[in-house]
Amino acid sequence: MMDRFNFNVELVDGLELSEPEGPLPLYVHVPFCPFMCPFCVFFSVPYREAAARAYVKSLTAEVEGLMSRWEGARFPEVYVGGGTPTMLTEGVCELLDVIRSYQGAVEASVEGSPYDVDDNKVSMLASAGVTRISLGVQSFFPDRLARLGRPRISSEAILSTIEACSRVKTVNVDIIFNYPGQREGDLIDEVEAFYNSKANQLTLYPLMPSIREPATVCPCSEKRERALYRLAVSQARRLGLTQLTAWCFSKSSGGLSDEYIVDSDLFVGVGAGAMSHLRGLFTANTFNISKYESLVAKGEPTVSLARRLSREEEERLYALYGLYGLGLDKDGFRRKFGRGVYRAMPRELLLMELLGLVKDTGRSIVPTSRGLYAVSLLMKLFYIKVSHIRAMAIRASL
Ligand code: SF4
Repeated sequence: MMDRFNFNVELVDGLELSEPEGPLPLYVHVPFCPFMCPFCVFFSVPYREAAARAYVKSLTAEVEGLMSRWEGARFPEVYVGGGTPTMLTEGVCELLDVIRSYQGAVEASVEGSPYDVDDNKVSMLASAGVTRISLGVQSFFPDRLARLGRPRISSEAILSTIEACSRVKTVNVDIIFNYPGQREGDLIDEVEAFYNSKANQLTLYPLMPSIREPATVCPCSEKRERALYRLAVSQARRLGLTQLTAWCFSKSSGGLSDEYIVDSDLFVGVGAGAMSHLRGLFTANTFNISKYESLVAKGEPTVSLARRLSREEEERLYALYGLYGLGLDKDGFRRKFGRGVYRAMPRELLLMELLGLVKDTGRSIVPTSRGLYAVSLLMKLFYIKVSHIRAMAIRASL
């Protein structure tokens, strides 16, 4: 399905994004982290207080510039990701206030880590109107965290951070699987630990090749990944969890989910290394923080990489996101692209149907139980390609 999609980005300078036509999610990137995990696929740098403060100032200036230029733009959902944005909780709350001052209420989701979130930070986030905190737990068990190359933290400390977060509507816990030494029973323990915690949303995602060098924690085989994925899905079902996406499960059915792409294939990103997808265009801001701050100070565009997307590529991305969100809306597809999904992707859909990976329910094309892993795999491959772009840009200091 993604074979017609190439990921050759172009170096650009001074590319000004055009104002989006309708409301879109806004992604805000905060790259600072308390430590560098060897399995990380994101743009992250070690936390330094002075650098983080300067960065928040630039981020605020970039957002203010954007809001003033795009007077009609609306961002009803704001996702603050990283990195570990809760390292800069005060700055993040101030930034959310700025966004609200331009456009009123927004639903906000903020990523954090059980190593740094405490009662005080949760109070600040809740007062700033944050409705979702997503904690990068990765494992509830200290020996497994050590295997992943993370500092040890007790299960009790993780559970008490989750409990502190539970005053906001949605508390998501990220758990990673398919790392060396992980047994099937270990993954069952993780799902059960989530179930017994105060968190109400679980994102289970497969380990991907890290952008760090040398990579010291590498994923096990795809065969093992598939077995672990299927086991986790059946355990989640046994516990009565609702599946929201190929990777996300919930104790209820509401709340923001793990990925804004499920609600909208288009989004705008601000901050160093943030990516945007607007009609026909995929871009990434510069990954060089000094360059980012200097561009913002001069009021110049922060985009450094771009890729024009053909209609076929847009259609495939939309289809991937739809299947990942467990239902590709056929009417929505036709409205968006002016042709039906079977006309756009006849061979791919026929093959997936013949293999029993998807089925047509009339309104939507949905993954079957068997096809869920295929969708997870497609999404993982897409993320790996995107993380190659990140790795290349970080290495070249673009
Ligand atoms: S995995 Fe999360 S906490 Fe670890 S370095 Fe990456 S962004 Fe930071």
